[in-house]
Amino acid sequence: MWNYSQPVQISFGKGRISEIGDLAAKIGCQKGLLVSDRFFVTNGLADEVIEKSQRTLSMIFSDVSPNPDVTEVDLCAEVIRKNEIDFVAALGGGSAMDLAKAASMIALTEDSIRKYHGTGEAVPSEHLPLIAIPTTSGTGSEVTCVSVLTDHENGKKSPIVSNSFYPIYALIDPELTYSMPPKVTAGTGIDVLCHAIEGFWSKDHQPICDACAVHATKLVFDYLYTAYQEPSNALAREKMSEASVIAGLAFTLPKTTASHACSFPLTNLHHIPHGEACGLTLDHFVRINGQHDDGRLKQFAEALGFSDVEEMADAICDLKLKLGLRTDLKDLDLKDDQVEELVKISRHPNLYNNPVEITDEMLRDMYTSMV
Ligand code: NAD
Repeated sequence: MWNYSQPVQISFGKGRISEIGDLAAKIGCQKGLLVSDRFFVTNGLADEVIEKSQRTLSMIFSDVSPNPDVTEVDLCAEVIRKNEIDFVAALGGGSAMDLAKAASMIALTEDSIRKYHGTGEAVPSEHLPLIAIPTTSGTGSEVTCVSVLTDHENGKKSPIVSNSFYPIYALIDPELTYSMPPKVTAGTGIDVLCHAIEGFWSKDHQPICDACAVHATKLVFDYLYTAYQEPSNALAREKMSEASVIAGLAFTLPKTTASHACSFPLTNLHHIPHGEACGLTLDHFVRINGQHDDGRLKQFAEALGFSDVEEMADAICDLKLKLGLRTDLKDLDLKDDQVEELVKISRHPNLYNNPVEITDEMLRDMYTSMV
């Protein structure tokens, strides 16, 4: 038995950022806030988007950090309340989109987002309409019901999941990703691979998401390295944007698993960027899950042209090396108690979506092999 639904209307294609005004008009709102990564305020794209919105977007909120903090969400919500904003557009990577998702909801309450962050408290269903415009390929956040936030003060990074977080429109223009430096292309691209593969093997996998996972994984193997080497290669950028949104569709219902669970302490404690942190453990979990495979993972590897699961794991490791992404933690010079801390904090709820039960011993062996 399975269910599928996807409420986000997707507009995809080069140059389609010019349609932002039409989308804003369709929503029928008048006073929009653009939540944007500071990079786009500096390079002028944020102003261009405001112009193209026929000035239905009238203000910019740019206090957006990578791994956005709960306090930034509360600040953005305050701006929305004070200025009687009636819709929000998010321009940036997962950080800008996730901050905007949470602020669009919390602004309609008197609460702080902390009430819902890692507490299990049900999120209210009311929210302002949101248009998501991704600039990385990427998190797929433009089609997911997830907002990943960090409470730096309390050392907590955690996703909040709610149907309130689905944007109304995803406006995906691959041209907006051309400015990503190679390091960001590499890290965000390996995140796409994690979404697709983890969505496929998640305990809650289902056939529509499976098909998306195979498609997105193939695109990453075919185009990520070219996008990394040639930032203006239109075909590679377009195919990575396609991979990103389709991988988003692949995981938003089944949810991510062990690699994402481990990424939270790796980012929080050791400041490894999100995608790189997820990718660090992906080939390890491919091997672990492959050893207890009921045949699904072998079929997945074969559909991608690999002879078996081990060959797919080797290919992931090779890709990371070619992209200059870390394959170990040696430079951090971690002591035994720091390895234990990683083991402990990796026991995040996403770990329990993994098809194979991951014990502390498995985590300890994996981290020990990296230090
Ligand atoms: P990001 O949004 O944090 O951006 C990373 C860096 O890249 C920033 O410095 C940003 O300024 C820069 N950048 C972004 N686009 C650029 C461009 N086109 N040109 C130049 N620089 C650019 O990175 P991300 O990987 O997209 O998002 C990571 C966040 O998303 C993490 O917090 C992660 O946990 C979260 N996430 C959310 C979901 C979801 O479904 N909501 C899924 C996966 C990850």
